[in-house]
Amino acid sequence: MLVTQLPAVDSAAEICDLRSALGFLKSIPGQLAWTEHPVDPREELAAVYKQVGAGSPLPPPVGSGPALIFENLKGFSLPVVAGLLASRERTALLLRSSSARLPFDLLEALHHPLLPITVSHAEAPCQETILRPPFDLRTLLPAITHTSRDAGPYITLGLLRAEDPETGQADVTIHRLCLQGADRLSIYFVPGRHIDQFRAKAEAAGRSLPVSVSIGLDPAIYVAACFEPPTTPLGLDELTVAGALRRRPVELVDCVSVPAKALARAEIVLEGAILPGDRIREDAPSGSGCAMPEFPGYMGVAQPELPVLRVTAVTHRRNPIFQTLVGPALEHTNLTGIPTEASILRLVEDTMPGRLTGIYCHPAGGGKYLAILQFRKLSPSDEGRPRQAALAAFAAFPELKHVILVDDDVNIFDNDDVFWAMTTRYQGDASTVFIPGVRCHPLDPSQAPEFSPFLRAPGLSCKTIFDCTVPYAMRDRFRRPEFMPVDLAEYEIRS
Ligand code: MN
Repeated sequence: MLVTQLPAVDSAAEICDLRSALGFLKSIPGQLAWTEHPVDPREELAAVYKQVGAGSPLPPPVGSGPALIFENLKGFSLPVVAGLLASRERTALLLRSSSARLPFDLLEALHHPLLPITVSHAEAPCQETILRPPFDLRTLLPAITHTSRDAGPYITLGLLRAEDPETGQADVTIHRLCLQGADRLSIYFVPGRHIDQFRAKAEAAGRSLPVSVSIGLDPAIYVAACFEPPTTPLGLDELTVAGALRRRPVELVDCVSVPAKALARAEIVLEGAILPGDRIREDAPSGSGCAMPEFPGYMGVAQPELPVLRVTAVTHRRNPIFQTLVGPALEHTNLTGIPTEASILRLVEDTMPGRLTGIYCHPAGGGKYLAILQFRKLSPSDEGRPRQAALAAFAAFPELKHVILVDDDVNIFDNDDVFWAMTTRYQGDASTVFIPGVRCHPLDPSQAPEFSPFLRAPGLSCKTIFDCTVPYAMRDRFRRPEFMPVDLAEYEIRS
């Protein structure tokens, strides 16, 4: 589909799928760009989008910019959109929120879940076209490689949906999927993930697990799917949160070839099953030893043994749009970071309501390792409570490594302002709290015994709180200059 064919969408309230999201962005200056220049989805697309909008922590040069539609892919007939959620401001616009309000709005949605509904085949745009074997996913889908060392082409925004073979409870999660053959994909499950638990139960019973992979979705669905336990425990369908964000139930449809359901308004759906006992090396296509770039900013190691999804049908809309994430960089930060912010907020609100006035899971940690907490001290007894909030954040999210605490007069989304607080409101020996030897996350290469003699095993870390809040008793000494409020729009400033 070409940009000129996108529907005109005036309000984010009307967004119900990928193309209405793109139609909405088209009307906002600076949020959607496109190119008709021929681009190869292998290596070239990622290299281009890295500089346009994928952002840090990919190596320089990087840009933060619009989502980009590649209309002309070498060897493929589908267009590709990259970076839909690679900006926090854009993510907020698509969810009818603001950068600062996003975690608060997500928490509100968590408190008002809305169950998905199932629509008929005729009402499901994702089944306008049905392909049955034989087909070759490698020539059908413009799946991308980021570098010459990637294991193979990856589907980076495939939303898996499966049901617990024992309870029937549903789960949706994004997992990286590497094209391994004409009808085969490897799935990387980080240990403990819910659909992997379903897979293990099915395998223990000698059965296959039916699965759908939906690609090209309403951004609210992708964001909600990135909630993790303990906020969304096993059995909690993350689509109920997506429905709450849109105040409209998410629409599912029965698959045509397996007993599973898919996202009815997806652009493309892969249907299939994870077969018991079937495993493959992640880098079987290339033998490179690598997977793809991972969120901490380094190349991932290829997993030696991954479950395999056998695809039994591909269904899609007329003129489907393939959606991809490049990075994982800013888009990954928003997808994982904003739900994490809501999860931390939920825990802190329970114990000290109204004190946490802002939270930002920063791109430097890929949305997982570094959080900036903005705290309002209301009375002398609030002294020390920001550190208490940091401890709650560590409890809410075990992968969190560093917490920076600032007062509510600091802009947490402006690195300059945060570093200013860390410079003028921080004394290293008095304002730093070390929590050594705590379980963290194995993908941070500094979290290894070779790096620090205090770490007994990989994945342990010294969690650290940087308390850059002003002592309550000294608050007058730290008052910022007060300027009159003005509305810049009134000043007709030209350039
Ligand atoms: Mn889950």
